[in-house]
Amino acid sequence: MIKKLLSKVFGRSASPRARLRIIPFDQHGVARNRVSGSALRVTSALQAKGHAAFIVGGAVRDLALGLEPKDYDVATDATPEEVHALFRRSRIIGRRFRLVHVMFGPDTVEVSTFRGRADGGGEGDAVRDEHGRILRDNVFGSQEEDAIRRDFTVNAMFYNPATQEIWDYLGGFADLRAKRLRMIGDPVERFREDPVRMLRAVRLSSKLGLEIDSGTRAPIRTMSDLMQNVPAARVFDEMLKLLLSGHAKECVVRLRREGLHHGLLPMLDVILEQPLGERFVMLALENTDQRIREDKPVSPGFLFAALLWHEVLAAWKGHEGRGMKPFPALQRAMDEVLSVQEKKLAIPRRYDAVMREIWSMQPRFETRAGRRPFALLEHPRFRAAYDFLVLRAQSGEQPAELAAWWERFQRAEPEERNVMLQPDTGPRKRRRRRRSGAAAAAVSPGGQ
Ligand code: ATP
Ligand code: MG
Repeated sequence: MIKKLLSKVFGRSASPRARLRIIPFDQHGVARNRVSGSALRVTSALQAKGHAAFIVGGAVRDLALGLEPKDYDVATDATPEEVHALFRRSRIIGRRFRLVHVMFGPDTVEVSTFRGRADGGGEGDAVRDEHGRILRDNVFGSQEEDAIRRDFTVNAMFYNPATQEIWDYLGGFADLRAKRLRMIGDPVERFREDPVRMLRAVRLSSKLGLEIDSGTRAPIRTMSDLMQNVPAARVFDEMLKLLLSGHAKECVVRLRREGLHHGLLPMLDVILEQPLGERFVMLALENTDQRIREDKPVSPGFLFAALLWHEVLAAWKGHEGRGMKPFPALQRAMDEVLSVQEKKLAIPRRYDAVMREIWSMQPRFETRAGRRPFALLEHPRFRAAYDFLVLRAQSGEQPAELAAWWERFQRAEPEERNVMLQPDTGPRKRRRRRRSGAAAAAVSPGGQ
């Protein structure tokens, strides 16, 4: 109400100043042949029907930085129904805001209709929760309004492949040149509308090498608690993007610096305080970043297994200390850690099986005699479990010699492997190993 009154009295002074600058090709250098064929087909088909259609958001930003966009978004004045009618392989999705997915082979181009203002400037107000978080804003608007409701100025540029022009209402291009990540409008208000923007600020600044503008950065520290009101599944999606951005280590360091890691990676609070835990987590993140940069696949399950390992380890040792046998103690520890994390971080259950396998295979690396090492080698999850052991060894939690032995063992010829086996397979020890091995098989899902 008050806001409406204020904006009546003062016009739209509370809204960011928007002035369209059209930036020609010779200034930004983004040639249309760098744009994905699928996105080009979408914009040209829409334009042929007389609609406005631009590539928008992260793709324009990445192209202007000389990077290859991960995915393409198109913004248009056509309604979702009009877009859907134009493309045979397309479907209307989304409840919060309806948009169209247009499919070409493996590519999906996301097409959205220009969206109106969320703050009452448009014909319908957004629905908010008691903290000011926007729950729904489903109003179509002008291109300018569409730019203003985006998060950062560098994410609000439009590229028209037909003319090779960038349309920039909010100075995003100048900010990009200055390597500055700046929130559109009043940062406090925009973080309140959607606290996930704080995470996006950290992720995008790390990934793109941009400095978060001081006005944008300042409120984060005091507003970080608002993350608690965001549905856990949304936090998880954004965290996954962050962890798989290729800059996970830097992001986590920055999250801590901004005080944003509470409630996101609650376990990190505790783990990072122990030197061994911190070293292990940082190595895991570095390792993930490296794999992503080399275009190798990474498994989120592996990463979560690593982030939670020292919690599992502490609980495991705790149960052992209270007299439980090692394998049931590990089993109990895994159950506890997973159930707590499910509530806090909403790690979906589909990752549980991988995490459990990786963890419960760890004690099996300690047996280096008899047939068991051969059986472990055949396990479908061997590679992941071995990579995990390497991280443990690098962080100093396990002897380097153990990881080195397994490295050699897997590469060795069959006869050489027999020679490598530890000779201490006397009857007494063998009996003991057999018992613990049987218990290991019982906790391992692979052994069940
Ligand atoms: P990425 O490189 O991760 O894809 P991106 O900026 O493209 O980065 P997307 O999640 O694909 O991120 O979002 C596409 C665009 O939608 C953004 O560039 C931005 O314009 C807008 N957007 C995304 N999330 C928000 C948000 N929380 N608030 C406002 N605008 C957003
Ligand atoms: Mg994107």
